[in-house]
Amino acid sequence: DRRVLMHVGPVEIELDVLLAGVRENVGFTSKEFVHAMSSALKGLRKVMGTPHYQPFIIPGGGTSAMESVTSLLKKGEKVLVVSNGVFGDRWINIFKRYPVQVDSLKAGAGDYVKPERVEQAVKSNQYTAVTLTHVETSTGVREPIKEVVERIRDNVELVVVDGVASVAGEETRAEEWKVDVILTASQKALGCPPGAGLLAISPDALSRISEESLSGYYLHLGNWLNVMRALEEGKASYFATLPVHLILMLARAFALVEEEGLENRIKRHEMVAEAIRRGVEAMGLEIVARDPSSYSNTVTGVKLSKVPASDVLNAMADAGIELAPGVHPDLANKYIRIGHMGWITPNDAIATVATLERTLNSLGESVKVGEGVRATQEYLSSRL
Ligand code: PMP
Repeated sequence: DRRVLMHVGPVEIELDVLLAGVRENVGFTSKEFVHAMSSALKGLRKVMGTPHYQPFIIPGGGTSAMESVTSLLKKGEKVLVVSNGVFGDRWINIFKRYPVQVDSLKAGAGDYVKPERVEQAVKSNQYTAVTLTHVETSTGVREPIKEVVERIRDNVELVVVDGVASVAGEETRAEEWKVDVILTASQKALGCPPGAGLLAISPDALSRISEESLSGYYLHLGNWLNVMRALEEGKASYFATLPVHLILMLARAFALVEEEGLENRIKRHEMVAEAIRRGVEAMGLEIVARDPSSYSNTVTGVKLSKVPASDVLNAMADAGIELAPGVHPDLANKYIRIGHMGWITPNDAIATVATLERTLNSLGESVKVGEGVRATQEYLSSRL
């Protein structure tokens, strides 16, 4: 049965991107693979807004990219984790496995740690690194990265941003904003299958990679650095096997981003997100993110008042739209997440809102059937 995937990742894959991976295998020294890596690495520089940073594409996903950041740390250094939810907390769980000191600042579900709190903590401590999550996928809340970095830049060596749920769907001008490390995963707003973590690292941060770096072997970015440099220049190189077919698809996805134009792509995400939020609110539901300025282009958490989230997700899937469960422990089974990233269109917004109000109504949640679609439609009509 046909189903539209309005998920927080993995997301829908454009047919063109899928087809780029439908071919015989090629070797890691083949011109096809080397060319695909070279163009994907170049594309990554553009999408992350990091023309002078070192791009990396490594196996794994968001988490391997996050853990590889331990390549930039040494024993005993102090790290501040700014966490707005489950994925912010993931940094704490990673750093606990390494000999570093970890402090954290946390926000309640739906909220975000305000820039002045981060500034205060950084000024009254000596942190080597601060980690931030651009869009916290568990709640759909966006942290104002540019403002936070302006406040802390002079007092911390490394600013690390998890852009897993933002890169290619939100503005991420990492170099202009003076972020040292920005990372993402292939299965999010780049709209590819899962399997790769992608990073861009500033020259200063890169110079911290050494034999004393804390990372293990596989995720030691020192092992990947020369491979990435060679491949970007069109020369074959090997440290460990990369996911060949995924790289072929990633190269195609970056080409499509270029064709669409990054600004247009971000505008499309912003428009579809707003269309969905208008529909959700007009049918009488509440959005998890508290402050409208923190609404993200990529994920919307929607609170439910009566029906358990699991029932809604099952009924929605039966009706042809797959959404994501809420994963924040403070709101267990009380909210659902609509993912709107990658190749999503205004028609997806209409279909999602229409199916949601019909489904919730049949399950007994009090919604105003028709009002959601009307609001989404009116908004889209004003934009298109
Ligand atoms: N950070 C964020 C913000 C995420 O949304 C995710 C995945 N949902 C991750 C990290 C982890 O990525 P992965 O599942 O690809 O390891």
